[in-house]
Amino acid sequence: MRNSLVPKKVEVFVWRAKRRRLPVLTELDKRGIDLHSVRCPICDNDIETVDHSLIFCKDTLDIWNKVYKWWGFNGVTNLSISEIFCGNSPHQLSTLGAKIWQAVEWSCGYLIWKNRNQKVFCNKSWNPPVALNEIQVKNYNWIAKRCKSKKIEWHTWLHNPLSFIA
Ligand SMILES: [Zn+2]
Repeated sequence: MRNSLVPKKVEVFVWRAKRRRLPVLTELDKRGIDLHSVRCPICDNDIETVDHSLIFCKDTLDIWNKVYKWWGFNGVTNLSISEIFCGNSPHQLSTLGAKIWQAVEWSCGYLIWKNRNQKVFCNKSWNPPVALNEIQVKNYNWIAKRCKSKKIEWHTWLHNPLSFIA
């Protein structure tokens, strides 16, 4: 799993997520750690699996929808870990475009996981509008800086990203 447009820590995260090797509560439980509950610490609506935490948790799905809409798509269409991290797109993209979109999905997953940990360990509340803004800024700093073949303007990135990747 390589994508040169993201930091190494994001690649490592995706590698672990695809193998369900993130310390969500059901995975800790499988390893024999004695937990009070395996329900999702964010929404309490379901048990906390990797798929739930990274995609289906209520606010998380909202963030994915916001990211897809930011990119001009109708809403999130990749509803599994393997689809999301493959970087499948609702539209046909150029080779560079597909790589950028995959980098965005990977970074978004990484930041969702980071936010989940902040909630669990620091009790910082989860705020989807702020999260989207953080995703846009972080992704720009990570991806645009690494993209040698194309200069990406912040304004385009924010308002019409599909225009340079289609
Ligand atoms: Zn949840």
